[in-house]
Amino acid sequence: MQARDRLDPRAPFVLDIRELGRRPGTMRRLEKTVPAPAGLGLGAIGVGVPEGSDVELEARLESVQEGVLVTATVRVTVAGECSRCLDELDREVELDVQELYVYEPSEGGADDDEAEPTVQGDLLDLEPAVRDAVVLALPVAPLCRDDCPGLCPECGAHLADDPEHHHETSDPRWSALKDLVGETSPAREVPGVPDGDAGPDQEVS
Ligand SMILES: [Zn+2]
Ligand SMILES: [Zn+2]
Repeated sequence: MQARDRLDPRAPFVLDIRELGRRPGTMRRLEKTVPAPAGLGLGAIGVGVPEGSDVELEARLESVQEGVLVTATVRVTVAGECSRCLDELDREVELDVQELYVYEPSEGGADDDEAEPTVQGDLLDLEPAVRDAVVLALPVAPLCRDDCPGLCPECGAHLADDPEHHHETSDPRWSALKDLVGETSPAREVPGVPDGDAGPDQEVS
């Protein structure tokens, strides 16, 4: 007996391979919609798959010599915040997942920190592969739309709602300040000590 936790056949990404048999060459397709598990995504950037949202799974299970090859398309809804305008965003992402589940772990698989995916009884768990694929597919800087204009850098206005938004650049206070700078700058360019002011050591005839 192995110490590893037994898979829960009711878990969303645990697939039953009994119908497949262990004859290389047999194949089975399955389609199902399952609820997203918790923590699917990157917490740090605030983008991920909301727990309990629908995940559409279309998988092909193929029996091969050493185990079961699973090739799947997984459709998830990614929710988060637009990195430019901070609006809520919600978009469907399609992932390709492929994983080989072996019947018997290879040599040295006993210390299973980095255990290769295995068939456990008549079950295999696609969840770790789905998690990896989701993390890879999530955008680092998600946008609500590709040309999101973002926020006004001066006042934070939401530019998509107000395409005409702009600020008067000829604010009289600013031009007054510019004049002031214009007047004081040349004064700083006064040359060094003028001739004839060389101090008391200078000989006078
Ligand atoms: Zn946006
Ligand atoms: Zn503004």
